[in-house]
Amino acid sequence: MKQLKKVLQMAVGVVSVTAIALSMTACGHTHHWEWQRSETEHWQVCTQKGCDAEKNRGTHEDRVCEDCAEFHVLALGDVNSSDPAHNDFVKEANEWFPKTGKELGYTYEYSEDFGLLNEEKLQFVDLVMFLNERPRKLEHQAAFENYMKTGGAWMGFHICAGCWATNKEDPEQYWKWFQDDFVGCGNHSHNTWNPTSEPMRVETYNYCATENLELENDTFVAAPCEWYAWEYDVSKNEDITVLLTLNPTKENPAGDSPGEIWTSGTYPIAWANNNYKMVYMNWGHNLQSYNNGEEGTSSRTFSSEKQNQFMIDTMFGLTK
Ligand SMILES: [Zn+2]
Ligand SMILES: [Zn+2]
Ligand SMILES: [Zn+2]
Repeated sequence: MKQLKKVLQMAVGVVSVTAIALSMTACGHTHHWEWQRSETEHWQVCTQKGCDAEKNRGTHEDRVCEDCAEFHVLALGDVNSSDPAHNDFVKEANEWFPKTGKELGYTYEYSEDFGLLNEEKLQFVDLVMFLNERPRKLEHQAAFENYMKTGGAWMGFHICAGCWATNKEDPEQYWKWFQDDFVGCGNHSHNTWNPTSEPMRVETYNYCATENLELENDTFVAAPCEWYAWEYDVSKNEDITVLLTLNPTKENPAGDSPGEIWTSGTYPIAWANNNYKMVYMNWGHNLQSYNNGEEGTSSRTFSSEKQNQFMIDTMFGLTK
């Protein structure tokens, strides 16, 4: 059976080579290749009208592989932090991103070893994700900074930017480049509580994350989260493009626990630093009771269709 399959593949290979040669002569165009995938095979087709050329047919398992992936994601995080709601998000991300990758054609590798932030590894990575954690060691931080300064792409969530440094000159406490230049938000300031689902207002459509969103009133409703506010107002930073904001009012406050409710103001939720290929997103905290109470871990960060689209379009846009 295996042998027969091999012979068939060889035959297909011969046909595709012939097709390419013929179409190039007949149409005289430059092929525009796009990957196609089935459960077990990948191949490239030319998307130019009237051209049926294909090439690079091969086999893989499970819909996508290193050869046919549009891009490779390295996600770094922690599922054993002191906050179960943050851990739940990471666990959920580790299901949702690879599942979506099989549908859309990217690979996803998760690790808790931030030592993978090294030059050798990063040359095979198109997008780094920080899932509620970030590198703590100076050498890993330096490798990441170099990766971003040499054209790497990044998406980070929630507390990966959270910092409570009392001495910002201490590099163990405060990753200066990351907090001041890269995400640009400085220390954590305060947050809403309990986690609530809130409307996100799009501030700019001129960005990969938002350009395809079709919305009513420029707004979509995000999955529940504990929303963060920061020391620095990133909307005043000329290197930063704010993509989404939260705009609570007395009538529609954010949070529902006394003392941690926002009733006014404009809070940046997702933003891009124009000097890098990056988007920071405030979400990454699943609603849960922390005490195995009734609500359990019922909320899902990946339950908002528009929010999901925002993430996927960011990934494809940053790795283009
Ligand atoms: Zn063609
Ligand atoms: Zn493949
Ligand atoms: Zn949180």
